[in-house]
Amino acid sequence: MNYREIIDRYLQLQGHKALQLRAVLFDMDGVLFDSMPFHAKAWSQVMTDAGFHFTQEDVYMNEGRTGADTINTASLAQFGKPSTPEQIDALCKAKCDIFATYPETPRMRGALELVTKVKACGLTPMIVTGSGTPTLLDRIQSNFPGIFDEGHIVTSFNVKRGKPYPDPYLLALEKGGFAPNEAIVVENAPLGVTAGVAAGLFTIAANTGPLNPEVLYNAGANMVFPSVEAIENDWENLLAALTA
Ligand code: CA
Repeated sequence: MNYREIIDRYLQLQGHKALQLRAVLFDMDGVLFDSMPFHAKAWSQVMTDAGFHFTQEDVYMNEGRTGADTINTASLAQFGKPSTPEQIDALCKAKCDIFATYPETPRMRGALELVTKVKACGLTPMIVTGSGTPTLLDRIQSNFPGIFDEGHIVTSFNVKRGKPYPDPYLLALEKGGFAPNEAIVVENAPLGVTAGVAAGLFTIAANTGPLNPEVLYNAGANMVFPSVEAIENDWENLLAALTA
């Protein structure tokens, strides 16, 4: 990958003169935490039990949507009508119950090292997630101590429209006081990439799931790395290109 060429193409397309990097906006599940295998298993089981055709790969394709939106989208596609609020509540609760029986999800390999490097070079790390579990802030602080300010975390509680809409990323820019050319996104899912790109942000994908990398490029990712660790390993070169 020629980083500079890719960045120049982005700048031209967006009409920015330069990137003036001040912040890195991290997605959470599948980027900071290796939680997607558990989410995939739980969602696929609950949806299949409720009569949907919903494979673990479908979970990755829907990743980033809120629970309600995931269920509604599947219901519209497979039964031609949205799901009822009662069904949505029941399925979300069933999924959470199954998820709670799994062991605590580990950090993604390379994630702590990457966010530590980001912070050390004076950039502001932020989290933008479609998740809204009550223990989320505690888990972030215990796994990434001292890295993320509470005011720099956007969750599903903060926005009406989740990813793939740009709203969560736009809110992150607003909360942090950053312009679109002052921040970049690190995402792992196609819909998350779509959200970052729709917000006008330079978007880097870490393909930490089972999807073909083409899916992430097709969603608009400016760069696709095979893992978070791969971004961390080449962070110095990437940063040099991003701040050139
Ligand atoms: Ca994700």
